[in-house]
Amino acid sequence: MPEGFPGMAKPTILIVEDEAPLLTLLRYNLEKQGFRVEEATDGQEALLRVAENKPDLVLLDWMLPSLSGIEVCRQIRRRPATRDLPVIMVTARTEDQDAVRALDIGADDYITKPFAVEALLARIRALLRRSGTVPTKGTLTFLDLSMDQDAHRVVRNGRALHLGPTEYRLLEFFLMHPGRVFSREQMLDAVWGRDIHVEPRTVDVHIRRLRKAINAEGEVDIIRTVRSAGYALDLEEV
Ligand code: CA
Repeated sequence: MPEGFPGMAKPTILIVEDEAPLLTLLRYNLEKQGFRVEEATDGQEALLRVAENKPDLVLLDWMLPSLSGIEVCRQIRRRPATRDLPVIMVTARTEDQDAVRALDIGADDYITKPFAVEALLARIRALLRRSGTVPTKGTLTFLDLSMDQDAHRVVRNGRALHLGPTEYRLLEFFLMHPGRVFSREQMLDAVWGRDIHVEPRTVDVHIRRLRKAINAEGEVDIIRTVRSAGYALDLEEV
């Protein structure tokens, strides 16, 4: 699944690492996931970069020339402008006390070399969510229906719903704007994307499927058809 950060500026990660092959590997993987990457190969340069252009997160190697990662982290924490800057320490040693020390001096998290890139990416994403750089996905609700965006689960009235991918995105879009009426063209732009050519009546087909999936026998239809205008997540006006 391509990650990326639609609708927002790319988060910038400063990689501080003196081993060129590892730096190249990390840059490649982070850029592939939609991050902007800055680099520094020693501790002094790291502090300079942070002061010049504050990144969204620092991935900081412990063992560095000129100034150790620990010292860099300490100075980042000491400066008011960077006190809250998210820092992940990369430790080469496996001793637990190094990890504890990294956290003690103010690193937000640490990872021990050698590590799997996926594990690092998960920590970076989690930390960016905690720091508010990347919005947290959560649960969207409307009446007795709820959508857990992280787990991709939709429940109505205690019943798990099974939606196709298009119906899921359609419902997610409605849940983000409850009560608002959207034309078929607006829904095509938002859910299918501007570049894809789809007939407006395709929307009607998917709305029909969505209704079938979310409304059980005897439940109120929470999708309102607005004549000659479009649809809304709403209750029929009586
Ligand atoms: Ca190193």
